[in-house]
Amino acid sequence: MQRPFVIALDGPAASGKGTLARRMSAHYGLAHLDTGMLYRGVAWLILEAGGDPADDAAAHAAARGFSLNAVAGADIRTGPVGAAASVVAAKPAVRAALLDFQRRFAERPPNAAAGAVLDGRDIGTVVCPGADVKFFVSASPEVRANRRWLELRRTRPGLEEVTVYKELLERDARDAERADAPMAAAGDAELLDTTHLSIDAAFAAARRVIDGALRRCGLE
Ligand code: C5P
Repeated sequence: MQRPFVIALDGPAASGKGTLARRMSAHYGLAHLDTGMLYRGVAWLILEAGGDPADDAAAHAAARGFSLNAVAGADIRTGPVGAAASVVAAKPAVRAALLDFQRRFAERPPNAAAGAVLDGRDIGTVVCPGADVKFFVSASPEVRANRRWLELRRTRPGLEEVTVYKELLERDARDAERADAPMAAAGDAELLDTTHLSIDAAFAAARRVIDGALRRCGLE
């Protein structure tokens, strides 16, 4: 049996990587794992129980044996959960507890899919260093904050764009400066700056890279 074809997609919040990952999954028939959901899920469990995401014991307990089923239907896409996710994500024991699940997903994609696309912060560097294609997706902080603000203000009408901008910079710094598996572009990642790109243009650029890799693997 052919081994799964794996795409690693890393980058900061609101860079467009989630949308690109979904497009890739639909276009190439690959299973998709949004790995941020795992960290958000762990953070949500702690907040829901009235705990402190900075507390090691609470974070380890929530991450040990974590399953996405435990947070099915929960509202994990909020700003506070994102901020708490980046606090728990800096803890090595939390990352270790979530690593196997991510690797298994890439090695044995669900529903017998021919491969998988995983998006996150450390997929190309730590989770799947042998991925067939790696991207690091970025955009200027101003553009990313504007995108996130437009999304969030639907449910939080009073939210100011500057607040979103500040939170985004804080989260970027926490994710990039942590000691364990910091957000970083793998040395062999394709850099995709979406600051001035529509999602269609970004996807077209990504497709050129992926189609080349599929040809090299004899899969096209
Ligand atoms: O991608 P998303 O914004 O949902 O991720 C939430 C947080 O989870 C990130 O800010 C980051 O701290 C953490 N994360 C991570 N490694 C990943 C995916 C997400 O540390 N692979």
